[in-house]
Amino acid sequence: MNTLILQPDAPDTVAIAAQIIRDGGLVALPTETVYGLGADGLNPLAVDRIYEAKGRPKDNPMILHVTGMEQVETLCHHIPPCAYALAEAYWPGPLTMILPAREHIPKRTTGGLSTVAVRCPDSVVTRQVIAASATAIAAPSANLSGKPSTTTVQHVLHDHDGKIEAVIDGGACRVGVESTIVDLTETPARLLRPGGVTPAQLREILGDLTVDKAVTAQLGPDEIARAPGMKYRHYAPQCQVVIVAGSREKAAAYIHAHYQNSDRVLCFEEELPLYKNCNPLAYGREADARTLCAGLFAALRELDDPKVRMVYARCPEGEGVSYAVQNRLKKAAAFQIIDAEEWG
Ligand code: AMP
Ligand code: MG
Repeated sequence: MNTLILQPDAPDTVAIAAQIIRDGGLVALPTETVYGLGADGLNPLAVDRIYEAKGRPKDNPMILHVTGMEQVETLCHHIPPCAYALAEAYWPGPLTMILPAREHIPKRTTGGLSTVAVRCPDSVVTRQVIAASATAIAAPSANLSGKPSTTTVQHVLHDHDGKIEAVIDGGACRVGVESTIVDLTETPARLLRPGGVTPAQLREILGDLTVDKAVTAQLGPDEIARAPGMKYRHYAPQCQVVIVAGSREKAAAYIHAHYQNSDRVLCFEEELPLYKNCNPLAYGREADARTLCAGLFAALRELDDPKVRMVYARCPEGEGVSYAVQNRLKKAAAFQIIDAEEWG
């Protein structure tokens, strides 16, 4: 199959993409978070093609992409007032809400659950495609399952060229990490995945918010993941990744003592001078967590190289936007964290 690369401002892009979706095909769509691998979320056969292309476990449900709350009303029931308030505040934007699913939503899409995830993305062309295809578009991140997400059209083609009908080239994704997921089917609402909308922003609307354990820690073998996708290894390059926590100086001392020739250091721009001889790769500025979000997945993809033995990673702290970076990096590291303050 020849994968079409469509330009967002070309006159027939929306019509071509919408026709592919209606016909049960796959179109990778730009969003502000990451590129999504889009298909008709109400057509189980189309959704099956997403699972096949990604190699995604079948119990890992999809997020349905919509144009707004009016469309959510056709997909969900018992929608609480706080869902409208969140949509008013943060849609279109990097926020996914879990709500009770109406009967007609295919079990393929919900992974067999009675709830469904919905989000309105902040990309004009993607919302036009949703509207023109007259369905809700299931669109998980357009990476191969387990690999770092795709934030450029080159990443999408690297993983899916020749396997999907088209990709719309929306340039680099602005936020760079996947949406915040909040479950509104329980009270207080529960944060299942941190993203571009921070816990503080959610609390402004919701008041109370529970943070699910899986956000910050590895679930035990007997624990059930509330977001089924969270139980899988994620975002990881093929080599081992270890987070080195602690002050700049202590972390650098630890890394210098353990560094071997084929290792890499994933660090903040501010730290580059400390790692001149350690093949460093900076993914953003510690002083501006948004740059860390935007750069993380491209960096993890660059490190996904059989020649790399080990990655020592520096991880930001705090509950703001950097919370999402911490969560992705900890998962990429399978929660292996070394406290450099306690070393030596
Ligand atoms: P992505 O592959 O980045 O689109 O991830 C979608 C995430 O949403 C996965 O972690 C899913 O487990 C989660 N998700 C989707 N639907 C639901 C649902 N109904 N309840 C809980 N989590 C969900
Ligand atoms: Mg994903």
